Amino acid sequence: MQTRIAGRGPWLREAILPGEEDAAPLTGEHRADICIVGGGMAGMWTALDLKRRQPSLDIAIVEADICGGGASGRNSGMVLSQWAKFEALQSFCGTEGAIRLGHAFGNSATELDAFFRSEGIDIEFRRDGWIWGATCMRHVGSWRGILTALAKHDLAPFREIDAATITAMTGSSTFLSGIHDPTAATIHPGKLARGLRRVVLKRGIRIYENSAMTRLDRGHPATVHTVQGAIRAERVILTMNAWSTSIPELRSAILVIASEDAVTAPIPDLLEKVGYKEKPLMGDSQLFVTGFRTTKDHRFNPGVTGGVIGFGGLNGARFEGRSLREDVIRDCVRRGHPALAEVPFADSWFGPIDRTRSGLPLFGALPHDPHIFYGYGFSGNGVATTPIAGKILGGLALGVEDEWSACGLVRSPERWLPPEPIRYIGAHMVRAAIARKDRLDHQGRDPGPIVRSLAALAPGGITTSRVAKN
Ligand SMILES: Cc1cc2nc3c(=O)[nH]c(=O)nc-3n(C[C@H](O)[C@H](O)[C@H](O)COP(=O)(O)OP(=O)(O)OC[C@H]3O[C@@H](n4cnc5c(N)ncnc54)[C@H](O)[C@@H]3O)c2cc1C
Repeated sequence: MQTRIAGRGPWLREAILPGEEDAAPLTGEHRADICIVGGGMAGMWTALDLKRRQPSLDIAIVEADICGGGASGRNSGMVLSQWAKFEALQSFCGTEGAIRLGHAFGNSATELDAFFRSEGIDIEFRRDGWIWGATCMRHVGSWRGILTALAKHDLAPFREIDAATITAMTGSSTFLSGIHDPTAATIHPGKLARGLRRVVLKRGIRIYENSAMTRLDRGHPATVHTVQGAIRAERVILTMNAWSTSIPELRSAILVIASEDAVTAPIPDLLEKVGYKEKPLMGDSQLFVTGFRTTKDHRFNPGVTGGVIGFGGLNGARFEGRSLREDVIRDCVRRGHPALAEVPFADSWFGPIDRTRSGLPLFGALPHDPHIFYGYGFSGNGVATTPIAGKILGGLALGVEDEWSACGLVRSPERWLPPEPIRYIGAHMVRAAIARKDRLDHQGRDPGPIVRSLAALAPGGITTSRVAKN
């Protein structure tokens, strides 16, 4: 079947090759050594890690849509180090482990570039650097705690910069101060996800697309059932992102909430004129963080968090079509880069984010099924972290004790959120409080104790300025 383009976001529309065919769906009975459910970046990096460790392994990926059809093919393409989450990393991994993982995540951009170059795949890698800044007085210094925690260990991945420097670096006149990480990069998400799929197939890993897992028999071997087929495997790895909420043990550790992006037509002259051509990607310090970047062909790509909240196990929802919050995205551009605020959006889209309380992912085996593994909770930061996730899950699934499988991110899913419908109702209350706090912060007004306490329940995002367990 020819790969569907209609309804998909621009990155996938651009990356799906003309005439490309979906992999055949799973029909009939099959066996595999390892079956991976979910063909996003996490599942595909895991498959490649397993194959690298043991080339003879028979690995199958079962994917509800097409590989990359989830968040992996529709993100903002920001490859960020995770140093902004250092304190949260420390709380799970200890200082030594946090430093080791921090370096691993920080090296991801370089490794992604090298990997895809060696495969002859252009992912439009650009070493743009990242500015995390403040667009109102109340947000100034949001990063200080992190800088202090890092400095205690002689780590200085960020440089503090003032408003004039930010204006010189980006053309934006509304950032009051911030920090700069020169190692961050941007990539084309569709080209990365679909390129990864090509490498996976080239390594002899089987992919079944349009094959949603409808039931998981947890015996040993386990059996992954789809509408038309089944696959028995010694080990199963679940890399289902937001859809992990369909697995009861995994549900309470994540809140599913959409992020949205928009993109303009190519505007090289305007970007040049306003000082934002090939310049650092930027993020503010809102709880519902806003980010900006540009593409290789000089489109402006803003994004916002805090969209639709997922209910229960999501029932296979695909989050397709244009964003219903283009007005919110536009407001964020007005606040963060006013010179670009009136440029029309050529397209917009949204996708689900699997937010954990700390903003860090979770890995492990299901409590009563040690042959079934999970890796999820990337919290909107999957581009740099999923290659490491692949190493962690690869080690876990093969029973290898190494620095990855023994790292502190391997832990049980926290019982963080209550069951439905309380969870859904509560999440809406917290979301409303966050939006109000973000708005009042910009007006220099105090949100009051109720809004402040509700907003404090926000899960971790791109940055974690407070430490939360799990
Ligand atoms: C709008 C947006 C912007 C983002 N921006 C950034 C960014 O700039 N930088 C960054 O680092 N991260 C960003 N992210 C987050 C990043 O995209 C994710 O963290 C990452 O893609 C997670 O990879 P994954 O493989 O876990 O998830 P996915 O790519 O979603 O893969 C999970 C797969 O599981 C499949 N699946 C689900 N249920 C089943 C089932 N029952 N049977 C079979 N298959 C199933 C899905 O179809 C899906 O393909 C963004 C996300 C969004 C939505």
